[in-house]
Amino acid sequence: MDYYQILGVEKDASQEEIKRAYRALALKYHPDRNKEEGAQEKFAQINNAYAVLSDPEKRAHYDRFGSEPQTGGMPGGPGGAGGFSVEDLFSQFFGDAFFGGGGRRGNMQPRGEDLQVDAEITLEEARDGAEIEVDVDRLVTCDACNGTRSEPGSTPKTCTTCNGSGVVRQQQRTILGSFVTEQPCQTCRGEGVLITDPCKKCKGRGRVIKTEKIKVKLPKGIDGGYRLRVTGQGNEGPGGPGDLYVHLTLKPHPHLKREEEHLHYIAELGITEAIFGGKIKVPTLEGEKEVEIKPGTQHGDYIRLRNIGMPRLQGGGNGDLCVHFKVNIPSASKLSKEARAHLEAYAKVMGEHPDDHKEGFFEKLGKAFRGD
Ligand SMILES: [Zn+2]
Ligand SMILES: [Zn+2]
Repeated sequence: MDYYQILGVEKDASQEEIKRAYRALALKYHPDRNKEEGAQEKFAQINNAYAVLSDPEKRAHYDRFGSEPQTGGMPGGPGGAGGFSVEDLFSQFFGDAFFGGGGRRGNMQPRGEDLQVDAEITLEEARDGAEIEVDVDRLVTCDACNGTRSEPGSTPKTCTTCNGSGVVRQQQRTILGSFVTEQPCQTCRGEGVLITDPCKKCKGRGRVIKTEKIKVKLPKGIDGGYRLRVTGQGNEGPGGPGDLYVHLTLKPHPHLKREEEHLHYIAELGITEAIFGGKIKVPTLEGEKEVEIKPGTQHGDYIRLRNIGMPRLQGGGNGDLCVHFKVNIPSASKLSKEARAHLEAYAKVMGEHPDDHKEGFFEKLGKAFRGD
């Protein structure tokens, strides 16, 4: 819809006329005063239109192109095309007095701070979705003064600057008339009272440090690198507690390596085990499992044991456990006389000539020239 139509002014309206139209409409449709359906959208439209038409540069651009200059971001949103938020624009214009309850900001109690903690979990805990415990040093409401910050039995003094209201009103004269704005009182920092006898336990801070064991339920299949939020377990504050963030790391498993939902195990085989095959024991998260090895297993071969990996975080089911074979080939110098004799006999039968490779460089070179 056309911005001029939204504000109900002519295309050649003066800045004065635009301001007057905006003021009347903004007051009429402000969501705190107008609860009718659609008032909120209307209010946003009015603010959008005013943000553009009150700025000579943006207005000129709008007149030429029928749109506001694109500077990135969402039009009308905070930091958007107009670079303003509706509430900022409105309070710039009218001051904070119009926001319900006389100074919305003065009534907002700060929430406690969020806290961060590290936790190391085992593969088994991640698989089961176990409940773990973390130690957290939290600021909690002082139980001696109940967070009032005054020594029990003493009463805080009413602030004389603001007479206990926590806000200081100022009359502001503007071209549109005078408005009352409200600011938090500097003397009492908006609290309306001054502490004369601070609580001894918390030294007037209202909070004390307490080390607590917080239980955290792990989602099944969770992995290291994830961060879990525990609502309400951060520091306590007058406006409620903050949240606790638990940063997870995975404790290395002595035998198994994890790769997302799959587990990997390296099984070392002797050469005869690789040749003849047989049975080996594979550690799994459910205990040892007997696994058959095929005769003629090669170094680097692997088998997949289905569904005994980790639970998938999304999509359900389990990953696999992969058993990778590493064939240990002994060095000749490490062989006993007997083992060596057997292997030499084997080589002879098979027509292999392992000793050939032991020839010196010049001998080999001579053979190459002779062509044998
Ligand atoms: Zn206290
Ligand atoms: Zn005050």
